[in-house]
Amino acid sequence: MVNVAVTGASGRMGRTLIAALANSGALNLTAAVERPGLAEIGADAGELAGVGACGVRITDSLDAVSSDFDVLIDFTIADATAVNVDICRRRSRKMVIGTTGLNQEQLARLEAAAADIPIVHASNFSVGVNVTFRLAEIAARILGDSVDVEIMEAHHRHKVDAPSGTAVTLGQVVARQLGRDLATDAVYGREGFTGERERRTIGFNSIRAGDIVGEHTVMFAGEGERIEITHRAQSRMNFAMGALRAAEFVAGCDHGLFDMRDVLGLRDESHG
Ligand code: NAD
Repeated sequence: MVNVAVTGASGRMGRTLIAALANSGALNLTAAVERPGLAEIGADAGELAGVGACGVRITDSLDAVSSDFDVLIDFTIADATAVNVDICRRRSRKMVIGTTGLNQEQLARLEAAAADIPIVHASNFSVGVNVTFRLAEIAARILGDSVDVEIMEAHHRHKVDAPSGTAVTLGQVVARQLGRDLATDAVYGREGFTGERERRTIGFNSIRAGDIVGEHTVMFAGEGERIEITHRAQSRMNFAMGALRAAEFVAGCDHGLFDMRDVLGLRDESHG
């Protein structure tokens, strides 16, 4: 059994992860952490997740419980994840990170930590989304510069970053195939007099509304036809199941930075 801690235990993903762990034969929830001051501190993590008491109380210090787990699953906010990376590095704990919106400095910290501990970091843990990445890669390779590429994403009203990490990864996958660079070729939303579209650009459009779990479409639009590849997440459980698969994978690693291609065994087939 691999002992697992969940940070952001009372969040949307945290509760889903704890519910998924309750049904896992290979992973065991041994610690649950939230930010200090939250009313849920001290509550039973399983009860809060709606799966019945599990005997793990939510605490407000990852450092204090760092000897209780092998792998931390972290779906919180970027600033909290960056601190948790430092703690896990110091305490030699393995990590699965789902938090999106990390800035360059935080990503660099994560990469540096991966020299000492194994980390799976993915903008989307859904297996279906990772298949979508591969389909987009194939389409971009075949269609090349004959089409315009636009990426649309929709999420619930509580999401704090845009475009979604998954949309950015989709853009990176396509850009890599087309020899483009999102730093110079991405266009985020359009308004006013924009001029004609340039072929090199890759457009990103974000919708925030209601309780949409997560939808991504990459459109390849040419003369007289277009292809749209769409993934729709219908519940958070698909992310949680992927994260648990990643936790089992990372438990067997010594150090290094991995993503879902490694977890799903797609790395050898990857052209990126
Ligand atoms: P949420 O706001 O419901 O939950 C985040 C939780 O983190 C909150 O409960 C918050 O109190 C807690 N938190 C904040 N600071 C903390 C700290 N210092 N220590 C411990 N807990 C802390 O958000 P969510 O919808 O669950 O999403 C969380 C993150 O996961 C976001 O970045 C989101 O984009 C990302 N996400 C990634 C995937 C993926 O597959 N990679 C899927 C869904 C969501």
